[in-house]
Amino acid sequence: MAKEELECSFCGRKKPETSLLIAGLDAHICDRCIEQAHGIVLEESKQAGNEELSSDLMLKKPQQIKSFLDEYIIGQEYTKKVMSVAVYNHYKRLLQPPSDDDIEIQKSNIIMVGETGTGKTLMAKTVARMLNVPLAIVDATVLTEAGYVGEDVESILTRLLQAADYNLEKAEKGIVFIDEIDKIARKSDNPSITRDVSGEGVQQALLKLLEGTVVNVPPKGGRKHPDQKFIEVNTEHILFIAGGAFDGIDKKISKRLNMAAIGYKADHDDGAIDKDNLLQYIIPKDLKDFGLIPEIIGRLPVLTFMDPLDAKTLRAILTEPKNAIIKQYKKLFEMDDVEMSITEGALDYIVTKAIEYKLGARGLRSLCEEILTDAMFEMPSNDDKKLNVTKSYAEDKLSKTTLKKLKAVS
Ligand code: ADP
Repeated sequence: MAKEELECSFCGRKKPETSLLIAGLDAHICDRCIEQAHGIVLEESKQAGNEELSSDLMLKKPQQIKSFLDEYIIGQEYTKKVMSVAVYNHYKRLLQPPSDDDIEIQKSNIIMVGETGTGKTLMAKTVARMLNVPLAIVDATVLTEAGYVGEDVESILTRLLQAADYNLEKAEKGIVFIDEIDKIARKSDNPSITRDVSGEGVQQALLKLLEGTVVNVPPKGGRKHPDQKFIEVNTEHILFIAGGAFDGIDKKISKRLNMAAIGYKADHDDGAIDKDNLLQYIIPKDLKDFGLIPEIIGRLPVLTFMDPLDAKTLRAILTEPKNAIIKQYKKLFEMDDVEMSITEGALDYIVTKAIEYKLGARGLRSLCEEILTDAMFEMPSNDDKKLNVTKSYAEDKLSKTTLKKLKAVS
C-alpha cells in the first residue's frame, strides 16, 4: 500500500485527516478512534466495578457481616449485631429495583454513643473495608453554619469524593463517619437562643445531607466560590454513621431510670440496673435531652452504644484482632529478621498501666511504642535477633517520666 493511501481501519479517515495514525499488524488506528475506544474501556470498567460492588454487597448476610467485624473488633457484641443489620438493610435498600408498591425503605443511618477509644471509628472503618466502599471520617467540631469561619457541611462530601478518587458513583454509595457529633449539641435547652453557630445551626445544615438530597460540592473543598466548578453529589445512598462520647449523658439516663423506677416499680422488679454501663439503657430521648434536635435524631434512626473496655477486653485487643497491635510489632521486627516474643506477664502489665492511667485502648499503642522504641532503634543493626519482652523489661522501659507524659496526653 502506498504511503499516501494509509487510513484508519476503524473510521476510514485518510492519514492526512488524522493527527496520528498508529500501525498494528494489519491495521491502523487514528487518534480519534483511540480516544473513543479509551472512553468505552473506562465506561465498561466503571460498570463492571459497580456490578462487582452490587454482587459483593448482596452476598453478605448480617451474620457474615458480623463475623467479619468479629475478626477486627473485640467485644461490642450489641453494636456489631445492630450495625450488621443496619448495613445489610441499607444496601438492600440501595439495590432494590424500583417498585410501585409505595413502600419506600428509609435510610438506616446509625448513631453510636460511647466513650472515646472504645472502637467507634474502628467500627466504621471495618464496615467500609468489608464493603469495599469509600469512607470519609469527619470531625463535627470543625463544621459551622455556612458563612462562618470553619467548614461548611458540604466539605464532608468533598472528603468522601477524595476518598473515592473522585469517582462520583462510588462516592454516592460510600460511608461517612461523623465523629464527635455530641459537640454540636445545642448548648442550651432554650431553642430560641440567639446565634448558635457551631451547634444547632450545624445540626440544621446536616439534616438534608442525612436524609438524602443533591448537594453542590466544591471538589477541592474550601469555601464555595463563584468560579469553582461544583460536582453534584446525591446523598440518598450514602450511609451516615455518627459517633460521640456524650459526656454526662449517663447522668441523664440514670435520672430517667430512677424516675421510671419510682413511677413503675414493676418495671425494675429485678432491680438490676447495671450502674457501670448506663449507656446500654440509652433511648433517643436522652439524646434530645443532651441537645440534639429531634429532626437529627429522627434521621439517625439506629441508636447503639459502646461498652466500656475492661481489662479482659483490653488484653484481647492487644493480641486477638486480625491486625492486633502486638501482631503488627512482630511483623515490623520480622522485617529485620528479629523474632519478637512477649510474655503474659508483660501483656497484663501493659493492660494494668492502660487502665491505671485511664488511657483506654488508644493507650495500648502508646505504651507498646514506649516499651519497644529502644529495641526498634537498636536491633536492626545488632547481631542479636531475639527479643523477649517480659514484665520487668516493660517496667524498665516505662520509666516514671514516660508514664507521666502518657497520662498528660490522654
Ligand atoms: P473511638 O472512635 O471510639 O474514639 P477508635 O475506634 O479510634 O475509638 O479506637 C482507638 C483504637 O483502639 C483503635 O485504633 C483500635 O486499635 C483500638 N480499639 C478500640 N476498641 C477496640 C475493640 N473493641 N477491638 C479492637 N480494637 C479496639
